[in-house]
Amino acid sequence: MSLQLQINASLKPFNSFGVDVRASLFAQARSDTDVHEALLYAAEQKLPLLVIGGGSNLLLTGDVQALVLQMASRGIRLLEDDGERVVVEAEAGEVWHAFVLWTLEQGLSGLENLSLIPGTVGAAPMQNIGAYGVEIKDVFAGLTALDRHTGELREFELAECNFGYRDSVFKQHPGRWLILRVRFALSRAAHLHLEYGPVRQRLSEQGVEHPTASDVSRAISSIRSEKLPDPAVLGNAGSFFKNPVVPALLAAELKLVYPGLIGYPQPDGQVKLAAGWLIETAGWKGFREADAGVHRLQSLVLVNYGSATGVQLLALAHRIQVDIEQRFGVQLEMEPNVY
Ligand code: FAD
Ligand code: NAP
Repeated sequence: MSLQLQINASLKPFNSFGVDVRASLFAQARSDTDVHEALLYAAEQKLPLLVIGGGSNLLLTGDVQALVLQMASRGIRLLEDDGERVVVEAEAGEVWHAFVLWTLEQGLSGLENLSLIPGTVGAAPMQNIGAYGVEIKDVFAGLTALDRHTGELREFELAECNFGYRDSVFKQHPGRWLILRVRFALSRAAHLHLEYGPVRQRLSEQGVEHPTASDVSRAISSIRSEKLPDPAVLGNAGSFFKNPVVPALLAAELKLVYPGLIGYPQPDGQVKLAAGWLIETAGWKGFREADAGVHRLQSLVLVNYGSATGVQLLALAHRIQVDIEQRFGVQLEMEPNVY
């Protein structure tokens, strides 16, 4: 067996919250063979298998009684190039931001708005990662996954992934699909998305009049570095709650009471509220209890100041959910995957 198994392994380095829990078994998968071996071994031992990437969208609430398989496969290849549209495939274990930078170095546009998102390529389709007006569904060209129920490989096209706001068929069926590699359709001509938030302003502050995709990547990276805590310094899993999408009537009623309410009308007539604004307005920004807290600059981000447990972080999240429901009549849904 090429797979190297560790018994009672610490998962602290493998979750961006830095929660100190252990896995009964841990292994890294560098190839499809490793993945198959892990599935077989877990089945033989009657152990659940938990697949992780960079651990940047996880909340671990206790020791994990499972074989935790961390995707560490590497490889990026050009599959098609007609001079304008270029299809690139990357293995699940590739680090997302390094992959984005690689595409930009090749002169390819499409992923620049998704710069500096932590994690791996294989996890990106799980919640259809998105930032600054772009989601991976916008450049998705297919993926190869292993059906853990049948052991067979399956190719997914865009329409089969059921991508939604931080959602996909893979998230809707937890534990069924193990994503092995993902394909993206990128472009040699830059079709830039600059309309979102402070992107244009940052480019002009940087003196960039005619931005390239790499300029946009640098601008977004600089905004993100200022606003978001670096998990290497302060444990976090990015936004802890999704932005709630509510009926237009409720948004209008709230706007009467809270004129500063931030809302974005959606194509279906509903309104997406900024969850961070609701949490901040409710007074949670900078809140801290023991080592679990709400970030002092970005209320959407829960943080671990050192020794918070997953249970403490989850309890804080629940308190915030109850408070927001009572104050605004709005339900906040958690974004990270809780185990
Ligand atoms: P993990 O946390 O390891 O896993 C996430 C889920 O996917 C788990 O359920 C896991 O079981 C499953 N999984 C992982 N790999 C595979 C695989 N190969 N096959 C099947 N299932 C798999 N997200 C955004 O959408 N936009 C952002 O702008 C953003 N910014 C962030 C900023 C910070 C500072 C942090 C800490 C997080 C941010 N996130 C953001 C969340 C996170 O980075 C993404 O969700 C990322 O895609 C998670 O990747 P990962 O490899 O760390 O996944
Ligand atoms: P921001 O720019 O302060 O904006 C606050 C919220 O308003 C965002 O959540 C965003 O929703 C929404 N918004 C802003 N401009 C919008 C527009 N023109 N149209 C529609 N909605 C708009 O947000 P931020 O916290 O600094 O994050 C910036 C981007 O990075 C966002 O896209 C955010 O989703 C992403 N991000 C995600 C995570 C994560 O863990 N999921 C962590 C950090 C940043 P959306 O979130 O729906 O885009």
